[in-house]
Amino acid sequence: MEKKKTELIGETREPQTISQEEFDSIVKGAVYKPLENSNALSVCVCRKCGTYGEVPKEYVSGLIRTMMLLGQYPKVSLENKEEMRMNYFVTGSCEICHQKGEPVYVKIEKIDFEV
Ligand SMILES: [Zn+2]
Repeated sequence: MEKKKTELIGETREPQTISQEEFDSIVKGAVYKPLENSNALSVCVCRKCGTYGEVPKEYVSGLIRTMMLLGQYPKVSLENKEEMRMNYFVTGSCEICHQKGEPVYVKIEKIDFEV
């Protein structure tokens, strides 16, 4: 038993993934409010740690490129600001919580402004 304990010391711990409830409430607080940055095109939320932020066109373009590499082709136009504003992005991890070798994922979600 003691030996096992010792072996565990120094082991890298995975950053904790937030719960679905926490994530949903972060999304709710992040996507409905008006964008503050004049050059922001959309909002991106990290599913793992909950970090979010407004993202400019160049960043969105990178997210869409990643999606295409993953075989997804979002039907949105980067040039259409109004349309982009109706969507937000979810990434599997971000610069803060990403772990080496972790699979990347990006999703685009519709913002339901009716709610
Ligand atoms: Zn993160």
